[in-house]
This record gives sequence, C-alpha cells and structure tokens, in this order.
Amino acid sequence: MIHFIGAGPGDPELITVRGRKLIDEADVIIYAGSLVNPDVLKGSKPTVEIHNSAYMDLDEVMDVMSRAEKSGLKAVRVHTGDPAIYGAIREQMDRLEEMGIEFDVVPGVSSFLAVAAVLKKEYTLPDVSQTVIVTRMEGRTPVPEKERLIDLARHNASMAIFLSIGFIDEMCKTLVEGGYSPDTPVAVVYKATWPDEKIVLGSLADIAGKVKAEKIDRTALTVVGRFLGGEYGLSKLYDKHFTTMYRKGAEEQ
Ligand code: SAH
Repeated sequence: MIHFIGAGPGDPELITVRGRKLIDEADVIIYAGSLVNPDVLKGSKPTVEIHNSAYMDLDEVMDVMSRAEKSGLKAVRVHTGDPAIYGAIREQMDRLEEMGIEFDVVPGVSSFLAVAAVLKKEYTLPDVSQTVIVTRMEGRTPVPEKERLIDLARHNASMAIFLSIGFIDEMCKTLVEGGYSPDTPVAVVYKATWPDEKIVLGSLADIAGKVKAEKIDRTALTVVGRFLGGEYGLSKLYDKHFTTMYRKGAEEQ
C-alpha cells in the first residue's frame, strides 16, 4: 500500500493529522524536494530511506515504490499542497494500478487556500464572484487551447494563477485584454506560510513592477479579482431575515 500525501503549503503544522502519522511511520519517503518543506519530514524514523523526486524521472519513482512494496516496507509519496493540483499524481496512480499495487491519497492544504488564509480574504464574496478559477499560463508545458487566460478572463471571476510568476508582465497584459479592468486588485504571495513568505499587493496595472522589485521569480501564486477589494454584499446564510434549515429568520417589521 502506497500513500500519496499532500504536505500542505510549507508550514509543517499545516499537514493533516493522517499525513503526519503516515510520514512518522514510513520506511521509505519520496518527496518533491523542489517545493516540500524538509521540516515536514522531521519526526520520521531514524532508519527512514528518503528520496528527492526532483532528481528522479517517473520510472525511477515507480521503481522505488515497487521495491518498497515488494520488501513489505511502508512507502509514502509526499507532494506539495494538495496532490490533485498540478501534482502529476495521476500518472503515478495509473502505473500503480497497472502493477497491481494498492494506494490511497491523503489530501493537503493547497497553496491557493493557504494564500487566501494569509491574505485574510474569501474568494467567493456575494455580489463579487461565486467562482474560483485555478489555472496556469502556458510555459514549457502547454495549456489546452480552450483554456487560454484571455478567454478565462472574460468572467472576471476570482482567479488563482499557479506556476506563472516568471510571466507576470504577459499575465497582467492578457488579463486586461481579456476583460479585467486595469485597476483590478492583485496579490502575489511568495512562499505562503514559510518563514520567508512575502506578500506583494497592487493592481493589474502595477503589480508586475512591484514583483520584479522584490525579485520574486518562483514559488509564488498570483490571485486576481475584486474579492481582494472592500466592496461586497453580506451573506444570506447569516442574514437575520433569512430562514435556513437550522435557523428561522426574524419577521421583517
Ligand atoms: N500541488 C501544489 C501546487 C504544485 S505546482 C498545491 O496544491 O499548492 C507549484 C506551484 O504552486 C508554484 O509554482 C506556485 O505557483 C504554487 N505554490 C506552491 N506552494 C506555494 C506557496 N507556499 N506559496 C505560494 N505559491 C505556492
């Protein structure tokens, strides 16, 4: 049995209890060394065998997993944030299925949720946006034609853009061309929840310059939308006059 584990965004306290327990009990750990905070692995057994997948290809990763399984060792595969978001986890799960090796997945706190937490914001504000678009720009890895940023921009939804900080100029230009007004608020968060976290706030018109001034060129998430601003409607859920399954609304006078 192989356990895939979402390690969370960085702070070692932001892994799930189950993920923590599985890491502590593991004989073999394969972790995404480019992004997973090594402190998350502290507490594992002194005898544990640790592999950094940044230096491995898919065959090598699968090889470590299958050898562990054959030797009856407990193996875990640790991904950053949640493995379902740009985790390249599917190809590993499919290979395990082909090999007849059982596995399960322990979710984690994705960085786009950690970013909302550090900014103290909510993506889904009444009268502002009820939709969150999680996307990335095309870089060395392509994005399907129908999901081009310029087309997604038309909705003016709350947006979290991964893996694209190196293209911040083009990103902002495209978002404006696609339909966000240039004064739309933007936040770039570098290494959310790590000790060296940085938050840069601005608008589509000026964020690119600010990000470059801070020399941020990796491990950052860009979030865009009016949810970062101060105007919104109040929720129905906690509206005094709104009846819910659990609470009867007060009669209007
Ligand atoms: N599975 C991960 C994403 C992996 S892709 C998750 O759920 O968060 C790697 C990208 O995620 C980075 O380029 C960056 O855009 C973002 N990222 C990961 N950790 C981050 C963090 N702590 N702060 C800001 N962005 C982060």
